[in-house]
Amino acid sequence: MNRRNRDAANRFTERRRREDESPRLQTEVPKLDDLRLDLEERRPGIVSAEVSHIRRVVVAHAPAMFEVPCSDPSCLDGGHDLTSGVLRALRQGNVTFEGEDTCLGQVGNASCERILRYVGTATYRA
Ligand SMILES: [Zn+2]
Repeated sequence: MNRRNRDAANRFTERRRREDESPRLQTEVPKLDDLRLDLEERRPGIVSAEVSHIRRVVVAHAPAMFEVPCSDPSCLDGGHDLTSGVLRALRQGNVTFEGEDTCLGQVGNASCERILRYVGTATYRA
């Protein structure tokens, strides 16, 4: 395995460990029934999204942790940690919420600065 692959593997293992150790989403937000995150990532200065996908969260099993890896394979130590913003919105019982996060990783000698925009849609038990 080359260094980059090993680094990526280490980061994956590390993320899995933190997910396993994180509190469960259902414990943090007991009334949460369903959660969907629409994610769009774009490079700085470019208006249209380059990468977009929908993440459906399996509330019963999900960790209370929302981290999205940077979609640029050459980005080092990048990624988006949406945990605090998403949890705050869910604790407030928001049905829809949105936010942005800028990647702080490095691409070559430059900072990555890809921007991840998320829109959350949640339903709650009465
Ligand atoms: Zn990045």
